[in-house]
Amino acid sequence: MREGADLIVIGGGLMGLWTAVLAARDGRRVRLLEAETIGRHASSASAGGVRSLNRHPAEIPLARAALPLWREAARDLGADVGYVASGQIRVAEDEAGLARLEDRAAATRALGYTHEEIVGANALFALEPALAPHCLGALVVRDDGFADPLRTIHALSRAAHAAGVIVEEGRRVIGLAAGSPLIVVTESGEFTAPLVVNAAGAWGNAIAALVGETVPVTPTALQMSVTEPVAPFVAAVLGTESGMLSLKQSAAGHVVIGGGFAGHVDAAHRIGRPRPTLVSENLANAARLFPHLDAARIVRTWAGLEGITRDGLPVISPSRKVSGLIHAFGFSAHGFALSPLVARLVMEIADARPPSAPITPFGVDRFQPASEERRYA
Ligand SMILES: Cc1cc2nc3c(=O)[nH]c(=O)nc-3n(C[C@H](O)[C@H](O)[C@H](O)COP(=O)(O)OP(=O)(O)OC[C@H]3O[C@@H](n4cnc5c(N)ncnc54)[C@H](O)[C@@H]3O)c2cc1C
Repeated sequence: MREGADLIVIGGGLMGLWTAVLAARDGRRVRLLEAETIGRHASSASAGGVRSLNRHPAEIPLARAALPLWREAARDLGADVGYVASGQIRVAEDEAGLARLEDRAAATRALGYTHEEIVGANALFALEPALAPHCLGALVVRDDGFADPLRTIHALSRAAHAAGVIVEEGRRVIGLAAGSPLIVVTESGEFTAPLVVNAAGAWGNAIAALVGETVPVTPTALQMSVTEPVAPFVAAVLGTESGMLSLKQSAAGHVVIGGGFAGHVDAAHRIGRPRPTLVSENLANAARLFPHLDAARIVRTWAGLEGITRDGLPVISPSRKVSGLIHAFGFSAHGFALSPLVARLVMEIADARPPSAPITPFGVDRFQPASEERRYA
């Protein structure tokens, strides 16, 4: 006996949870199937940056459209998600870096966007007085920010239950059959629905492969570190042109440090482990901008598995092979910021409504040999 629903979501990360909430609030009977536990992978490991700064041009409209949704998220979900409109800053530490940032700002302006702003040293130190004196200027987006990944997952999980979503943990999907309705096969039962959303993160390509769609996704163990609490010294989320870094300070004083360093992937156990040498390199980048961090003690490091696609852009797309299947995976280290908007886009695809931001660059078929020459730079 197969249990039916109006919509099945595969994967209980941010993309799956947020989509399930929207669909259920819309009156649909929603079942969410999560192989492990809710928020187990990229979504809870995330740095939580809500960044339109320095985005790939194809993602700029999505990142900008997501910002008001983050500002409303606490009211919408009825719980604090830790969202702070802190601004995000990418610092130039040398003349070459400053020239690159100026080129970037000009290119973004040429596309019609005004959110990125070049500031010189005086304005930069007015924003962040604790920065090391060698910093020359920066690219700034004043209305970017960050949120708390764990609070966001808990808020979404509660909202999903309140909206009537049937959330099933420990239900790994292993098969998907086309038809009307679609049949979703798990290790312990089968389910049917006319609509299925593939939000399986770093394993989204495995779900797509079940219906013959090929997407090159590399599971990558992105690593993070957090320090013991220190006195408040930074307001915005900070990055640098001279190395991989994303740095922010929580309200409790902890400094959260990441930036894209890739640790070890243990594919068999679906876990990531940080590489100590890269933790050190990441901390060195942080201490170069804020020298007092040289003495800060790290209290935890971790690595979360994220699916990186070949072109670094996600798949947000109806399946080209199976009617009723919608893909939203492969967010390539940028998905946290986009997640409330992605859920909207998925439901717009489901309802055949016009998308609230352009999704053509994120088609599932862009990796097929016939379209391999397309570029989204
Ligand atoms: C360390 C780190 C830092 C990051 N920092 C930022 C940041 O600052 N800003 C930003 O915008 N983005 C950031 N990201 C990226 C962002 O967190 C992710 O893009 C986003 O969380 C992806 O959400 P998801 O729901 O697609 O994936 P996930 O959270 O990985 O969820 C996918 C879920 O699908 C489940 N699943 C997989 N296969 C199956 C199956 N067969 N059956 C059922 N369930 C299945 C998995 O168990 C998992 O729970 C970061 C990511 C990491 C790892």
